[in-house]
Amino acid sequence: MADSDMFRLDGHHALVTGGNTGIGLGIARGLARAGAQVAILGRSADKNACALSELSDIQPTCRQFVFDLADAAAIPATYERISQEMGGIDILVNNAAITVRGRADTVAPEDLERLMAVNVTAPYVLSQCFARERIAAGAGGAIIMIASLMSEGARPTNSPYTVTKGAIRQMIKALAVDWAPFGIRVNGLGPGYIQTALTQPLWEDEAFSQWVVGRTPLGRWGTPEDFEGAAVFLASPASRFITGQILYVDGGWLATF
Ligand code: NAP
Repeated sequence: MADSDMFRLDGHHALVTGGNTGIGLGIARGLARAGAQVAILGRSADKNACALSELSDIQPTCRQFVFDLADAAAIPATYERISQEMGGIDILVNNAAITVRGRADTVAPEDLERLMAVNVTAPYVLSQCFARERIAAGAGGAIIMIASLMSEGARPTNSPYTVTKGAIRQMIKALAVDWAPFGIRVNGLGPGYIQTALTQPLWEDEAFSQWVVGRTPLGRWGTPEDFEGAAVFLASPASRFITGQILYVDGGWLATF
């Protein structure tokens, strides 16, 4: 394999949850540019259609699926349908996640449950569906989870989200060791502070935004485009001996204190 081919994904089929905006769309763009057929999944048909029109300019075979990941019981049948339509999936990006803010003593149990369902149960069940198919086919694959700085530490008023991202950190390791014998690699991308809809209240707060810029060694907020290359690396043969790791795309945040 030529060095440059290590980063190509021609002939690969990727499913990116939450691929209709933000970091997920950045990842979907990167994978499509590297040659993969990409499917995105989200709840909003409008957001999906908008993202698909952009992705189709890169790779005409891209697809979109409307589905709510909070419905764990429906995930296996939905996964099977998507996989059949795509002719198999060998790259799974568990990107979709939600948050709720508030001091821990004010958080409603149902909000914690909602976050656990979308941020933890859904990636776990989707990964099971992926692994069962790949193991049955006698073929490997790559799973990419999305961790967070909150997988490593905590900030005030963010406890439910922090709990879920701590779980993702361990999920990456646990699934990586279970499925390594089958050639399925499980890694994570760890975003720093990235300008998306999820963080809108933060970057619209001028004082907080300046604090982020000052605290980040590379001196800026991250963008969804910053994930294109990192996702291609973890999905492609370029990272073939890497599993159970988190690659932080954080402008150096975790390197300093
Ligand atoms: P975002 O802009 O809010 O996008 C979230 C995506 O998830 C959307 O495509 C949304 O589509 C989808 N989604 C949410 N709930 C869903 C559900 N129940 N079922 C199906 N799809 C659902 O978020 P982002 O900032 O790009 O974040 C992406 C990932 O990076 C998340 O895992 C997040 O925790 C992580 N992250 C982000 C940052 C940051 O600074 N932005 C930092 C650390 C980690 P629909 O609305 O159409 O459902």
